[in-house]
Amino acid sequence: MSDDEILRSLHALREGDLPVHGGRTMAYVYDAGLDGVDELAARAHAAYAGVNGLDMTAFPSVVHLENEVVGRAAALLGGNAATAGTFTSGGTESCLLAVLTARNHARRTRGVHRPELVLPVTAHAAFHKAADLFGLEAVTVGVDPQTFRVRPEDVAAAITDRTVLVVCSVPSYAHGVADPVAGVAAAAAARGVLCHVDACIGGWYLGHLRLARNAPPVPEFDLSVPGVTSLSVDLHKYGYTPKGASVLLLRDAELRRHGWFAHRSWPGYPVVNPTLQGTRSAGPLAAAWAVLRRIGTDGYTELSARVHAATRRLADGVGAVDGLRVLADPDASLVAVASDDPAVDPFVVADEMRLRGWYLQPQPAFAGSPANLHMTVTAAVTGRIDRLLAELADAVRRARAAGPPAVDPALIEAAAGLDPDALGPEEAALALRLAGVGEDGGLPERSAPVLAVLQALPPRLAERLLPEVVGRMYRPGRP
Ligand SMILES: *Cc1c(COP(=O)(O)O)cnc(C)c1O
Repeated sequence: MSDDEILRSLHALREGDLPVHGGRTMAYVYDAGLDGVDELAARAHAAYAGVNGLDMTAFPSVVHLENEVVGRAAALLGGNAATAGTFTSGGTESCLLAVLTARNHARRTRGVHRPELVLPVTAHAAFHKAADLFGLEAVTVGVDPQTFRVRPEDVAAAITDRTVLVVCSVPSYAHGVADPVAGVAAAAAARGVLCHVDACIGGWYLGHLRLARNAPPVPEFDLSVPGVTSLSVDLHKYGYTPKGASVLLLRDAELRRHGWFAHRSWPGYPVVNPTLQGTRSAGPLAAAWAVLRRIGTDGYTELSARVHAATRRLADGVGAVDGLRVLADPDASLVAVASDDPAVDPFVVADEMRLRGWYLQPQPAFAGSPANLHMTVTAAVTGRIDRLLAELADAVRRARAAGPPAVDPALIEAAAGLDPDALGPEEAALALRLAGVGEDGGLPERSAPVLAVLQALPPRLAERLLPEVVGRMYRPGRP
């Protein structure tokens, strides 16, 4: 194939994707809406794509770029001269490394061998992944049912001699609210336990918002808060950099070393891996460095101020739509929208919005949080909030007319009796057929009926079945 044909094929494949620009995709993608930023990032990425961060002595440019990017994050987020950090591939890797660091630190300095991780029930799934991968017990703490924020006294009560790390979120992904960092960090410090602030989505946004003229009150959340020992902030979210860019900040290099892997007990090259990766392209780092320079502190501050105003307008406007309510008053740029009318199913609203070109992310009910739709407000959508609200009101009218999808009670009753661990491939296939999932893992155009079933299943059963759905999509050689 010619270069042109190859590129045409790649572009054609994207026609089935959600758009990554324009702000109508309100999860997964972040658009600064600024001319030329993506083009600059692509060129910087290409210039460094083949550079390998695996060996920082062979590629000193990587060290230079990383020190500048991490230094910028530390300066923004309450760091001091001792602050250390690592550039990672994303929020998940930053959170994984924070947990790994704390586990190893507690093992070596406190002799903890059956480690526990204390986290609010609202913490990101990445922390459960970390507990699973690194052999920790996840101890979840309930949140206030009205505000969805964890209470410091509940965190304090969950800490034991085996606790290696306490986590809080600013903000939480699902509800967009900030946990009370000062109280949680103090509770951890009182027991000699480390405290991680997950500011993956909010750190860059809030850190700049507080620099704005007439800035709204921003909750205290960064490394300057006593007791906070690490913080994660994603650049590929509100840094508007290409994907594969996050920073983990730590109190100091002495803490950071516990998360690194060093190996000289094999016949190959001596290894020091600061992240979970071996070979790592410097492309995302160079692209992040370039975009940070291009937008600059003033640029990010301006973007944050605009996103803040738009989020307020959106939250107030949603509250005024008959049938909808904002689940929690947003502390950042995320809005969770639930229904206050049993005839209006949020997932049907999402389907209606999808037909109008908007993607709102369904969040099934869990632990006192009702079914709702997540909206991430990025700079590109700030000029379209009125349009969004009008379409939302229209979608709600249609959803009310359609009514909520019915879930067969017999199906749910049968599901309740299933042991997820004992489920063989045939039973799993039968369950998926009943749920309306195609042989190729394809979902019906309207996702609300499938989501209603998913929501009604016990979470552990869903965790058994969801990989089956995805497994049907990933079949080598399938067109
Ligand atoms: C996005 C996010 C993560 C995970 O980040 P990825 O970049 O998707 O791996 C973790 N915590 C919070 C609060 C997030 O919003």
